[in-house]
Amino acid sequence: MSNPNLLGKKRKNSSNSESPKKINLHHQNKENEEMIKLNEAFIEKARKHPLTITPPSNPEIHPNISPLKFQIIKKFNKARASTMTLPHSEVQTPIYMPVGTKGTMKGLLSCDLERMNCKLMLSNTYHLALEPGDEFLNEKYGGEEKRGIHNYMKWNNNVLTDSGGFQIVSLSKLSIRSENGVEFISHIHGDNRKIILTPEKSMEIQNNIGSDIMMAFDDVIRPTSNINEIYDACERSLRWIDRCIKSQKRKSEQNLFGIVQGGLDLNLRKIAVEEMNKRNLPGYAIGGMAGGESKNDFWKVVDICTEYLPENKPRYLMGVGYPVDLAVCALLGVDMFDCVFATRTARFGTAFTNNGFIKLKNQSNKFDFGPIDKECQCEVCLKYSRSYFYFMFNKNPRAVVLISFHNVYYLLNLMKRIRNCIIENKVNEFAKDFFMKQFPIKTPSWVRDALEKAGVDISFIDKVDDNVHYNNSEGEY
Ligand SMILES: [Zn+2]
Repeated sequence: MSNPNLLGKKRKNSSNSESPKKINLHHQNKENEEMIKLNEAFIEKARKHPLTITPPSNPEIHPNISPLKFQIIKKFNKARASTMTLPHSEVQTPIYMPVGTKGTMKGLLSCDLERMNCKLMLSNTYHLALEPGDEFLNEKYGGEEKRGIHNYMKWNNNVLTDSGGFQIVSLSKLSIRSENGVEFISHIHGDNRKIILTPEKSMEIQNNIGSDIMMAFDDVIRPTSNINEIYDACERSLRWIDRCIKSQKRKSEQNLFGIVQGGLDLNLRKIAVEEMNKRNLPGYAIGGMAGGESKNDFWKVVDICTEYLPENKPRYLMGVGYPVDLAVCALLGVDMFDCVFATRTARFGTAFTNNGFIKLKNQSNKFDFGPIDKECQCEVCLKYSRSYFYFMFNKNPRAVVLISFHNVYYLLNLMKRIRNCIIENKVNEFAKDFFMKQFPIKTPSWVRDALEKAGVDISFIDKVDDNVHYNNSEGEY
């Protein structure tokens, strides 16, 4: 095994030496804030003095036998409207993928997603491996003919599985990372049971689950981490992608996507993209974002990745789910998105609208008999009023289900709207309408800069503000 310490420097505070501790979210948030401040200086320094990495000298090349076809229908500068053909159905992109972590969505059924015409959803390798178990899904569930996640969920469309790499961050206090892989302490069994994920093991689990798109097992760290750790993780992810390609079975039945890492360092992202491209994978993801970075850094990383990723393959931005972020990044050339935010925020009574977020528990909705979003055509908006949710929210769990339905529909529909505008050559009209409604007073400067880079006519933007990121009914934040 090659030396992971290729930068030749001794590191302090390596996550390898962290012992598992009880998760304290408040403490974690405070720690994150301090980490962001500390690392801004590191990142600035790294930009002035870019380091280099040593990628593996003999990359594994993926054979051209993947069951994926990707056809671009129309473009607007970087943005694309495409059709991606996967084993279970055709997918129109750009697309938002709802997240069913353990083979089920929180609050929604697979038939709800069918009614929304959703063709691709996400499920989670780590959680499915714990329960019901990937071998159970492969060997026992429904017999040889009906095995796998699709039969388990009663879902006849496509499934993408993440690799378990993200849990290195989300369960960082319960995991220990090494060159071989990551050792987790099970968070559900309560007996300190160990689970070891390696690139080979992640491929084996995803082969058992039978997903249409399986993600590479990569070394995920927060984008605001120490720059040395970011370079290490990026190098390790390149070594791990070669192990993933080598160990992936069912290459003609399932599609393996590579994941570009590299934190906020644009030079490193470019190197990582070029390395990934050599491996000839059927699709690529931009990983390690939405981890506390500034919006200004966020869009620039997305932009450089879409600039260098191959034109003829799908591009997936992992874990990003705010409506404004989806719109901006689709215009920068991203095809696929996923995030739990739509359903998570619904559990707190927050709904997406074309005018920003609204909190349905707020007094202002008590006498509002209009729908959550008057422009939305979902089943919930066609039937129920904001006033109904105001009264029902704390009394009936069905309220959360209905708001989740609306939020997921909203994102699916937002992507469909952008797709149609690309095809009809009306992207400038869309951008003016969408962003003026989202930001009626002041537009965040990062949105203006990103739209300008995407080649959108930004003459509708009057006032910008560095401190505004999103808009909700209670004011800007
Ligand atoms: Zn709706």
